[in-house]
Amino acid sequence: MVIFPICVMRISGIDVHLTAKSKFTSYTFYFYFNDLRIKSLNAYSGKPFITMASPLPKDKIPVFFEDTSVAFASKSDSRLRKTYWLFSLMNQARVVNLGTFFLKLALKLHLPIKNLIRVTIFEQFCGGETISECDDTINTLGKSGIGTILDYSVEGEGSEASFDDTAQEILNTINKASQSEHIPFSVFKITGVASSELLEKVQRKERLSDQEAELFSKARQRVENLCSHAHKLNVRIFVDAEESWIQGIIDELAYEMMEKFNKEKAIVYNTYQLYRHETLDALKGAYLVARQKGYVLGGKLVRGAYMEKERLRARENEYFNPIHVNKEATDSDYNSAIDFCIENLHHISICLGTHNEYSCQYCAAKMEKLGIDKKDSRIWFAQLLGMSDNISYNLAKANYNVAKYVPYGPISAVLPYLMRRAEENTSIAGQSSREFLMVKSELKRRGISSL
Ligand SMILES: Cc1cc2nc3c(=O)[nH]c(=O)nc-3n(C[C@H](O)[C@H](O)[C@H](O)COP(=O)(O)OP(=O)(O)OC[C@H]3O[C@@H](n4cnc5c(N)ncnc54)[C@H](O)[C@@H]3O)c2cc1C
Repeated sequence: MVIFPICVMRISGIDVHLTAKSKFTSYTFYFYFNDLRIKSLNAYSGKPFITMASPLPKDKIPVFFEDTSVAFASKSDSRLRKTYWLFSLMNQARVVNLGTFFLKLALKLHLPIKNLIRVTIFEQFCGGETISECDDTINTLGKSGIGTILDYSVEGEGSEASFDDTAQEILNTINKASQSEHIPFSVFKITGVASSELLEKVQRKERLSDQEAELFSKARQRVENLCSHAHKLNVRIFVDAEESWIQGIIDELAYEMMEKFNKEKAIVYNTYQLYRHETLDALKGAYLVARQKGYVLGGKLVRGAYMEKERLRARENEYFNPIHVNKEATDSDYNSAIDFCIENLHHISICLGTHNEYSCQYCAAKMEKLGIDKKDSRIWFAQLLGMSDNISYNLAKANYNVAKYVPYGPISAVLPYLMRRAEENTSIAGQSSREFLMVKSELKRRGISSL
């Protein structure tokens, strides 16, 4: 074994020594971040090893998700029929393409279609137009032991006034969370309170004009107000992850807030997109920095939502695509992130934002193996409202901490979110969406027709 230094990096003011250990017999490099192994590379091909978690034997799986009677227990027959009808429409790519085109057009022409949207797709995926309209959803989920994460899903128009309004609305969600036992987290997107163009410029370390510097300082202040308010009211808050060209500055802001507000426990959570090559290492690095600076790392683990956009931009601008080469590599890093966090739970709190059954089972099995209580407040699972109810309801029934993102906002403003959900639920290569098949199987189990 030969050990040699590679470089010293300065991350958040701390020197990190990167060394490689090489076993020439196997051509394997192990990269160390101080004392912690962060990466193995196959030196021969230069490709990262994909260390897939081996499939779990059935008797080692603490929770199963097939039980549709649990998943849809809160839905009446007529509501289930309606859900079936909606998913069967969304299952057809052509209908979704045409539908989204006409919806956009109708809204532009101010045609009276809001009610149609409300009683169909909005009802399925959103809690309401305002916080108080979400009360029914919060209570229904709460009765089944599922928390709500109010997600103000308005995609900003980009003015300073709209950023202030959004920040105020997020403060309202934090207030609401502090008053409800059914709301375990709050959440926001930095681009809801700051301009994407400005964030991009800051990330590129471009010189800012005086006016831009002032706008950035206002944006930082909004972020700090949100996190400090959450801290004051003891409400945990997620910072959502976004595109790679602004994620660097989002990370910086999130770490700055964690250093201020996570001294005793995780209040601020950054989001880690494991579909990026570098995220697993970044997560481990963030853990070390948090330990050195004396705060708890909060991490929402997701695979990542902007794959196509990332690939396209990388191709157009001829830089290395930050996304893994295939799904298996993403899955492998996701499950390794679970391992890493759970093994370091004394200094990390996590929420798995995923609809992937295997990852949820993998985490549950790991918890069981290490003797971690299912209700340990440092581990949560989360899914989106209207999707993967089989996971959320079965996890809750098995006594795990689980919550749903409940998007809300004016119908016309949440439309882009709704369209993404519709596109996600179309059949791929002729294969029906999983949601559709599950609703269908529950109708069959109840012995009722879909009409
Ligand atoms: C509660 C919650 C919060 C979320 N918050 C965020 C957030 O803040 N930021 C964000 O970006 N996303 C967020 N997401 C979305 C998330 O990143 C995923 O897009 C989505 O959940 C699908 O991934 P999955 O783990 O559920 O399931 P799966 O269906 O197992 O995985 C699909 C995902 O795998 C990855 N993938 C698919 N094909 C490939 C490929 N060929 N190569 C490499 N990777 C591939 C992509 O990330 C894709 O979205 C959130 C999701 C949930 C449920």
